[in-house]
Amino acid sequence: MRIDIMTLFPSVCEAYLSESIIGRARKDGLVEIKCHDIRDFSKDKHRHVDDYTYGGGAGMIMQPGPIADCFKAICEETNTRPYCIYMSPQGKVFNQETAVRLSKMDNIALLCGHYEGVDERIIEEIVDEEISVGDFVLTGGELPALMVADAVTRLLPGVLSGEECFTEESHFSGLLEYPQYTRPPVFNGKSVPEVLLSGHAANIANWRRREALKRTLIRRPDMLKKADLSRDDLKIIGEICAEIHESDA
Ligand code: SAM
Repeated sequence: MRIDIMTLFPSVCEAYLSESIIGRARKDGLVEIKCHDIRDFSKDKHRHVDDYTYGGGAGMIMQPGPIADCFKAICEETNTRPYCIYMSPQGKVFNQETAVRLSKMDNIALLCGHYEGVDERIIEEIVDEEISVGDFVLTGGELPALMVADAVTRLLPGVLSGEECFTEESHFSGLLEYPQYTRPPVFNGKSVPEVLLSGHAANIANWRRREALKRTLIRRPDMLKKADLSRDDLKIIGEICAEIHESDA
C-alpha cells in the first residue's frame, strides 16, 4: 500500500512516521508513505499557498492551485489516481471500521488543511471523502493525517507480529479490550488477577471476554448495540448488570 500526505509541514509528518512500528514498516517495504510539501507547487516567489477569504472574514484560505498540482504530481508518480481524503473537522468521524476499509486500498492520499482550511473548489475537484478525528478543531490536518496513516498501516499484513495484535484490540470486534498486565506480579500491593498466572488458556479466554464485556458495558454501552454478541455474552452481560445493581443497592 502507498500513502501520500499533502501538507505544509512534511518534516512534522516525517518525524513521526520514521519512528517505531510505522518507521520499521516503511523500512521493511510493508508500506510506502511519502510526504509532499504543498509549497513546492506554489507559483509565488515567496512560496505562498494561501490568500484572503472572498467575502471577508478572519484568517487565510489555502489556494486550490498548489494543492491541485501537488495531487497531479502524485498521480503521475504513482501512475494512478489515489483515493483522496481531506482531513476536516466537517468530515465523518474516523473509526476502526474506516481504518479497515482504507487498509484494503492500494493508494490513498491525505490532504492536510491549515489556516481556515482549503478553497471549496479543490474539495469538489479532487476529494473523495472527508474525515474528521473528532468534534474539535485543530490548527492543521497533520495530526489527523498521522492518525489515519498510523491506524491504517498497523493493519497491513506483517506490520504487527500477528493478526491477533489488532483483532483482539478495542474497537476491532466492537468491544473495548480487557485489562492487560505485565511484570511485576505485585505492584504497590496490587496483584495481577490470579487467573492470568494460571496458564489455563480457556479460563484466561473466558476471563478476558467477561472483562471486555464489562468494560464496554460500563464505559461505552453504546458500542454493545453494534457488537457481535453470542448467547453466552448476553448471559454474562446480564450477570454483570445484576452485580452492578447489587453493588449500587
Ligand atoms: N475553518 C474550518 C472549519 O470551521 O471547518 C477549520 C479549519 S482548521 C483551523 C484547519 C485545518 O485543520 C483543516 O483544514 C483540517 O485539515 C484540519 N483539522 C482541524 N480540525 C480537524 C479535525 N477535527 N479533524 C480533521 N482535520 C482537522
